[in-house]
Amino acid sequence: QDQGLGSWPRRRARIGAADLAVVHGEERLTYGDLERRVRRLANALASTGVGRGDRVAYLGPNHPAFVETLFATAALGAVFVPLNTRLAAAELAYMVRDAGVHTLVSDQRLATAIEATLTLAPVGHHVVVAHADGDVPAAPVAATDYASFVAGGASTPVDEPVELDDLAMVMYTSGTTGEPKGVMITHGNLAWNTFNVLIDVDVSTEEVTLVSAPLFHTAALNQTFLPTFVKGGTSVLVGAFDPAETLELIARHRVTWMFGVPAMFQALTAAPGWAEADLSSVRAVEAGGAPVPEELIRTYQARGLTFMQGYGMTEASPGVLFLRAKDSLRKVGSAGAPCFFVDVDVVDTDGRSAAPGVAGEVVVQGPNVMRGYWNKPDATAAVLDEQGWFRSGDAAVRDDEGHLAIVDRMKDMFISGGENVYPAEVENALYEHPAIAEVAVVGVPDERWGEVGRAYVVLRDGASFDLDEAERFLDGRLARYKRPRSVEVVPSLPRNASGKLLKKALRTSDG
Ligand code: ATP
Ligand code: MG
Repeated sequence: QDQGLGSWPRRRARIGAADLAVVHGEERLTYGDLERRVRRLANALASTGVGRGDRVAYLGPNHPAFVETLFATAALGAVFVPLNTRLAAAELAYMVRDAGVHTLVSDQRLATAIEATLTLAPVGHHVVVAHADGDVPAAPVAATDYASFVAGGASTPVDEPVELDDLAMVMYTSGTTGEPKGVMITHGNLAWNTFNVLIDVDVSTEEVTLVSAPLFHTAALNQTFLPTFVKGGTSVLVGAFDPAETLELIARHRVTWMFGVPAMFQALTAAPGWAEADLSSVRAVEAGGAPVPEELIRTYQARGLTFMQGYGMTEASPGVLFLRAKDSLRKVGSAGAPCFFVDVDVVDTDGRSAAPGVAGEVVVQGPNVMRGYWNKPDATAAVLDEQGWFRSGDAAVRDDEGHLAIVDRMKDMFISGGENVYPAEVENALYEHPAIAEVAVVGVPDERWGEVGRAYVVLRDGASFDLDEAERFLDGRLARYKRPRSVEVVPSLPRNASGKLLKKALRTSDG
């Protein structure tokens, strides 16, 4: 039996071929349309030499071609490699080389970056999804046109049985703490993560899911698109997140569920039209990827929207913890309890379970946990043990109901005078100061204390802030050893392509 992701379109089409699977701009694809297109694309890819285990990369914003390429690649037992559109050519070239990409499917709007990438890291075959409208750079001459490529593929069924243990994707981590690592995700990882989502989110066949977070990240693809697909709901794919447009799309398509990073939900509340927007179709919103401020949860609850949260990582495909709707306000500050088929522990440096209330590292075991890092056996051995426990690199505190509050990244923790300092705690305290728009705290070497905190702050318009003010403000709020010993006012904080704060850049800056 073919149990792979590539069989999903066929399974869904056989239940309801006329059901609407994907909406993108004016384009609409039913499950039947998608199944036929995926079959042709798979045959076209096979005819150009893509076979079991070969890597097929996709570089482009959310678009039906993204999901068609995903399913067609999976149907062949080949490996899908989603690439981040916000990366620079050198970063993309690293991934293309590292993954050993056979075929690249790219979006014409990114032609300039792609040409630069392919000069550094050539691929066997390049297929381009054309865009006639607007100021689009010309497609490279050597490339194949996606629409003709699909149309030219045979319509015969693809007969390539895929098993749950077969590799489905190499998906790169965000690179927040170092070089991005290619995470090996199996078909089984994707299936189990999907089941976990279905258990917690009650995704229905009537679901209309807004997919405006980028599909090349684990959350949008595995946490919203695939669960919606399995249930036969509709995914509205949006190429670029725009707050005002999002509000219009919600009303126009009667969106019922959406996922976003907290910054996206924050941006919606600041968008013109937020107060009048028709959100009556939305039953729940889900945030993940970063801590969610309490005020944001209350703002959405006040609009009658259930606010759910998830915590996870690329390596866990990604769901680890889920804060269920019923606990949303009761458990403010928590990232949730384990997903159904996931086991989670919080351990001390010796690997023993930490007591409730004591910070330790989050470790994760379950059928959604990756097989390892692509081409990086040492990095894999450093995070996966023989029992399949994965070390997340995140610090958390468990409460006596088994809910976890994420404290910080272990790598960001520093030790001052023998005491552990989690910068996130210091940042949260500083965020309460009216002058501060953004803040990041890192540990810097210090002769006397080993390390001490340094705060990088972005000020609100016209405001001022310095070390004396920090001392005055934090006195009585934070233990002395946690308080920063220097303050640097900066115009902005360094962030990576996914908007995550790059503390490694701050630690290595001279500032
Ligand atoms: P890299 O591993 O390359 O340094 P990354 O860890 O940022 O990059 P991702 O897999 O995209 O790459 O992100 C997972 C991380 O995001 C988690 O390990 C955690 O640090 C953070 N995170 C995810 N969800 C939450 C959440 N709900 N609350 C706090 N942090 C979160
Ligand atoms: Mg990580």
